[in-house]
Amino acid sequence: MSEDCLFCKIIDGKIPSTEVYRDDDVFAFEDINPAAPTHILVIPTKHLKDIKAANKEDRDLLGKILLTANQISNERGLAHDGFRYVINTGKHGGQTVYHLHLHILGGRSLNWPPG
Ligand code: AMP
Ligand code: ZN
Repeated sequence: MSEDCLFCKIIDGKIPSTEVYRDDDVFAFEDINPAAPTHILVIPTKHLKDIKAANKEDRDLLGKILLTANQISNERGLAHDGFRYVINTGKHGGQTVYHLHLHILGGRSLNWPPG
């Protein structure tokens, strides 16, 4: 828990969100400004500021974030047509919230390469 972290506050319920999934290790919720018909964020309940902050002890946690994303993609019917997982990191990566999060984007065709 980081006192001044937006996503820690969302996990704690101090800031409202539309919850998609929760357990002890991960939390998933609807992105407030969706960039696609389905846009969900999957985050660890543990505060890690970005993917670079993860280390060996977080190996299971990182696996769980991906498997949780798969479960949600299936539930939301994205598996057939596909989807994209994104982890923006740092200034060049376009990261705006410094609590590790994986974006699930789906429901439309997405451009590549990104802008
Ligand atoms: P990033 O640019 O990868 O750091 O992504 C941060 C994401 O968090 C953006 O897609 C925002 O729309 C989203 N976001 C910011 N504030 C909230 C919030 N209060 N509830 C849900 N999503 C949020
Ligand atoms: Zn946090």
